[in-house]
Amino acid sequence: MTNKIVIAELTKGTINPATAELVSAAQSMGGEITVVVPCTDATTADAAASYDGVAKVIAVKSEVFAGNDSSGWASALDSAIPNGTVVCLATARSKDVASRLAARRGLSIVQDVVSIEGSNLTSPIYSGKANQTVTANGDVVLTVRANVFNAVGSGSSNDVSVVDASGDVKTAVQEVMQRASARLDVSEANIIISGGRGMGSPANFTHLEAVADTIGAAVGASRAAVDTWEEIPHSMQVGQTGKTVNPNLYIAVGISGAIQHLAGMRSSKYIVAINKDADAPIFQHADYGIVATWEEALPVLQDSFSSLLG
Ligand SMILES: Cc1cc2nc3c(=O)[nH]c(=O)nc-3n(C[C@H](O)[C@H](O)[C@H](O)COP(=O)(O)OP(=O)(O)OC[C@H]3O[C@@H](n4cnc5c(N)ncnc54)[C@H](O)[C@@H]3O)c2cc1C
Repeated sequence: MTNKIVIAELTKGTINPATAELVSAAQSMGGEITVVVPCTDATTADAAASYDGVAKVIAVKSEVFAGNDSSGWASALDSAIPNGTVVCLATARSKDVASRLAARRGLSIVQDVVSIEGSNLTSPIYSGKANQTVTANGDVVLTVRANVFNAVGSGSSNDVSVVDASGDVKTAVQEVMQRASARLDVSEANIIISGGRGMGSPANFTHLEAVADTIGAAVGASRAAVDTWEEIPHSMQVGQTGKTVNPNLYIAVGISGAIQHLAGMRSSKYIVAINKDADAPIFQHADYGIVATWEEALPVLQDSFSSLLG
């Protein structure tokens, strides 16, 4: 049984809670688990010290991790982490780092893993139309989608060792531009409410925002909405040419359910569709469907959520 090296996911310099899901994913493959925390300040790794089921926590310190150069990240990690199967979160940046790390170590990579049974790793292919299971023969690098594995508990007190690493920075970030919207990003959200062309106008997205604020959701959009209205930014687009999301709850409002939209959200745990057309394809993939206009359905939903949560 080979060792499993979990690379902690960092969001704004702190450990993302999804890292505890990576530990759980690694546990399903067996072997001793080491959590590696890329950081510029070793105290960042303290949050990983409490994870259950972990043998070691290593804070890998390098100035490289202050930037966004994936090749620098990969070279710093490669110089500092032990051998074994490497487990990362399937975010855009970590998938990039993971593939570079795999190339450096001569290992195969399996991206977007959604299920693990021993050394059998399953991930969606053909825009989510089918699943593929591959068997890892020895060490591999894999990226795991968020919200698929239950997070491990956090009652332990593991020692944190610190390793200094150097990375070869090939590119440097000159300027970071703030995202246009201060709202929660769809790729980080546990609940998403998305609007399509059926919303009628970009101004009507305020109705989705009101529901989102009540239930702590992010607001997403179909490509038709993004392409039709310049007020709806591409960063909100879910689908084949937008973001792949995997929330616990996805509410699709005025979205027909084209295959390219489904490609980005069909693995959501629960899908709720609101559409005035009972034959809209989205209903074939929804756990719950409301055949109504959003003008009828959203106020009822908003009232119910407010009285439940308020
Ligand atoms: C290469 C390629 C890549 C693509 N990538 C993506 C992608 O990443 N993401 C994506 O979303 N699409 C993508 N598309 C586009 C995709 O094929 C669809 O055109 C798009 O998803 C349709 O968006 P929609 O459902 O909002 O609009 P429509 O297809 O116009 O559907 C609108 C829906 O709203 C309903 N409706 C209308 N009025 C109301 C109302 N008042 N209340 C309730 N329901 C109402 C209608 O019944 C209809 O079902 C891609 C296409 C191609 C070719």
